Amino acid sequence: LVLSLALTACGSANNDNTTTTANTTPGKDCKKVGVLLPETDSSARWDSKDRPALTDGIKAKLPDATVLYNNAQGSATTQQTQAEADLANGACILVVAPVDGDASAAIVASAKAKNVPVIAYDRLIYSDDLSYYVSFDNEGVGKLQGQYIAEHYKDFVKGNNNNTVMINGGQTDNNALLFEKGAHETLQPLFDNKSLNLVYSTFTDKWDNAKAQTEMEGALTANANNVQIAYVANDGMAGTVIAALKAHNLNGKVLVTGQDATVSGIQNILTGDQAMTVYKNISKESSSTADLVAAISKGTDTASITNGLTVKNPKGSKAIASVLAQAVIVDKSNIIDTVLKDGFVTKADICKNLP
Ligand code: BGC
Repeated sequence: LVLSLALTACGSANNDNTTTTANTTPGKDCKKVGVLLPETDSSARWDSKDRPALTDGIKAKLPDATVLYNNAQGSATTQQTQAEADLANGACILVVAPVDGDASAAIVASAKAKNVPVIAYDRLIYSDDLSYYVSFDNEGVGKLQGQYIAEHYKDFVKGNNNNTVMINGGQTDNNALLFEKGAHETLQPLFDNKSLNLVYSTFTDKWDNAKAQTEMEGALTANANNVQIAYVANDGMAGTVIAALKAHNLNGKVLVTGQDATVSGIQNILTGDQAMTVYKNISKESSSTADLVAAISKGTDTASITNGLTVKNPKGSKAIASVLAQAVIVDKSNIIDTVLKDGFVTKADICKNLP
């Protein structure tokens, strides 16, 4: 009897252990993945690149998975509702590019309560409970933009006419802060030694492209159209900044930066209205994300994907396991060797409706 009691106890203890372990490994055996993207209007990338790359990439690496796709169209509240709906529908891994880095910590909290891991995609979520972060070296992206200006401003500046405008992204996006920080690292010495004169600098709520145009119009009016350099954080806003310049026949006469290597960004480079863009290989970013999703679900090692890299939550204390890809400057001189060579944009895309 003693023996049989002991065996029963051992048996039930073992069962408990097994059950407990399986249930407490977040995302293990998960087959329903929520993908939540922030907007479609702030950059062409979200709908044309990230959406298909993530949904197809996850299905390719986890063939029996279902992907629930949502776009919050710039509303943090909508994104929260979408995440809650995914969790209620049984999503067991979430991939979130947040509208708002602070507000989305609530998504991570709801997910954690259900033992669901969250991967912050492209934009960091300020939460110590975040499981992974996949993005680019975003301060590095800002440095590349600043570095391009540092290397080319002399072609646009004439004597004391060296007025510089900075149109940054949306402040609720941690990336916008990093781009601005990186750009300042390379531009501040030029502001300090008066090679460039910073006359206007603003963040643009939600990367609203139309608002960027109004900002540029304001900067032109305030400076009697005397502007030589426009640091613009991405191609979408660069497009509307160029529209503001065109209204005064100033397009091509002002150095305009961008980011994302979108089709219209590349076209604006070809027409001479935009000087550069930053090419971020979104296939790599989404494929690392899909690798993580598959490894979490299969219970295999994720350390070989993150390679020991971590990024500290700037508003918390934890270092988040991360994957960061590198970005590349693109201007007239290397379009063929970069974005065309990789098939990121095609000749047909670029030549269609070229202004
Ligand atoms: C992304 C950029 C994009 C911007 C606006 C940022 O978080 O990193 O690539 O242009 O959001 O959508």
